[in-house]
Amino acid sequence: MSRTILVTGGGTGIGRAIARHFADQNETVIVTGRRPGPLDDLAAETGVRPLICDHTDPQALLRLVAELPERVDVLVNNAGGNIVFDADGKTDLASYARDFRANLDANLVSAALTTKALDERLAPGGAVVHLGSIAADQGADSYGASKAGLATWNLSLADALGPRDITANVVSPGYITDTEFFRDQLSGERRAALIAATATRRPGTPADIAGAVSFLASPAARHITGQVLNINGGASKTR
Ligand code: NDP
Repeated sequence: MSRTILVTGGGTGIGRAIARHFADQNETVIVTGRRPGPLDDLAAETGVRPLICDHTDPQALLRLVAELPERVDVLVNNAGGNIVFDADGKTDLASYARDFRANLDANLVSAALTTKALDERLAPGGAVVHLGSIAADQGADSYGASKAGLATWNLSLADALGPRDITANVVSPGYITDTEFFRDQLSGERRAALIAATATRRPGTPADIAGAVSFLASPAARHITGQVLNINGGASKTR
């Protein structure tokens, strides 16, 4: 029987690859995002079900939950990103506060709110997988802090869900090409340096991350919970 998989922010980049991976396994896949364009496009290609939701907004999450089936087997908290690049460079305090909070909201608060909103739908035998980041281990800017906070918060989530036979883990990508973030926000020089810092001498792909998410959501991973799985071509070892 096919499982129900919810991939947040599934219209583009890594989330799109995750949604596509599960759809290819004949799972029932629901994808969310704020813009209809990428979601509708993916739905036309793969048959996934698109739903509009801003995962930082509690009211939008309540509307989302009302649209979901009774049982959700796998929740992938992928929505987010370094949405205010260089938020920490802001010199006036009001802008700094706004941008710092925006990154925490986008990555940490959104995942916590989404998991909370779906709590009663999460089914025994299921899994929650969050998208962390190598940034959590590399520095304390607001984006890195949001992803480090996500991994720490996940420890208590794993503890709460464990007795219900639901696992909770983080996949932590290094730098992934073919995403808007890697393509548009980093200079060519910076991209080359990040690739040189890997052991594999190649950047990751969205498919690399989809494979790891799929494993953590599989029957083979039932005793893995509260963990962070680094997928970065060895970058964390060669820094
Ligand atoms: P993208 O910008 O391509 O994808 C992010 C997706 O999330 C978009 O589809 C966006 O759609 C959606 N999204 C963002 N905020 C919200 C929100 N509040 N509510 C609903 N949907 C939202 O980035 P990536 O694929 O690169 O990133 C995916 C995840 O992987 C992120 O959590 C990111 O932090 C993490 N990551 C990425 C790395 C990389 O190198 N690319 C490295 C490490 C981690 P829309 O705008 O329509 O809402």
